[in-house]
Amino acid sequence: MNLVYPWRHARSARFAVIGDPVSHSLSPKMQNAALRELAEPGEYIAVQVPESEVGPALDHLADLGFEGINVTVPNKAAACRWCRTVSEFAATADAVNTIALGSRAGINTDGPGFLETIAAYPGRRATVLGAGGSARAVVLSLAAAGYEVRLWNRTESRATELAALVPGLTVLNKPSVANADIVINATSASLGGDGLNLDWSEAEPHALAYDLMYSAEPTVFLASAGDRPKLDGREMLVAQGALAMEFWLGRPVPREPMRRAVGI
Ligand code: NAP
Repeated sequence: MNLVYPWRHARSARFAVIGDPVSHSLSPKMQNAALRELAEPGEYIAVQVPESEVGPALDHLADLGFEGINVTVPNKAAACRWCRTVSEFAATADAVNTIALGSRAGINTDGPGFLETIAAYPGRRATVLGAGGSARAVVLSLAAAGYEVRLWNRTESRATELAALVPGLTVLNKPSVANADIVINATSASLGGDGLNLDWSEAEPHALAYDLMYSAEPTVFLASAGDRPKLDGREMLVAQGALAMEFWLGRPVPREPMRRAVGI
């Protein structure tokens, strides 16, 4: 658990993650490991910011001299509105997860970070389960990278809304792992121990099972995938965090110390 500062009582530091709640975030441990490895001065802390107070909180943190802010649930859309410039991907996703406070420039490293973690795996067919905030970043980045994307969501209308942004995307009417090189669980079903009743006997033997939930223990989704290759959400967490640090520092950031800090 992090020591969390309500934003009005935040002490000054160089970097922070803002969210609500934010006490369980792994980012301070991971990003401080990166700063130490690079012998960079300063510290990365966790600051609690309710969604309705994102604008004044970011103004206040800028006044305190913070250089870089990561934004987590539920504040990514409000952060997008605070920024003076927003990258094209962040604007399409309506989600900023990384801000350079001095220039008020916002980007989204969730999508590029996700792509970094699957780069070594073969195939261009991806099935995404879920249509919430993380699914949105994943679907948009997969489509932009040329993947053939299939999408299923429990509430079909949300899948259809997301599909409207992505030409050629197929909406599935039931969860399926067939005909995919990568199957991504972007639902929060694993939080409740739900495996989505997938029939993995239909899946390709090489299919990568990727659960976006952080978990040192295999989730029901990952356990049900049998011997297939597997990744959990800590991989995406590390990659998006490293890309954020590179944006702020303007220098390469090694992933290994960050991976160790989150237990991979
Ligand atoms: P979100 O915006 O609240 O979306 C939740 C999604 O899960 C919706 O598609 C929802 O479907 C679906 N869902 C919830 N319970 C379900 C169930 N029992 N069965 C089937 N579908 C269910 O959440 P999010 O922020 O995208 O987070 C989703 C997952 O990604 C979580 O496990 C979270 O921990 C993880 N995550 C990881 C990272 C990372 O960096 N690795 C970053 C963010 C989130 P409906 O539309 O039908 O409600």
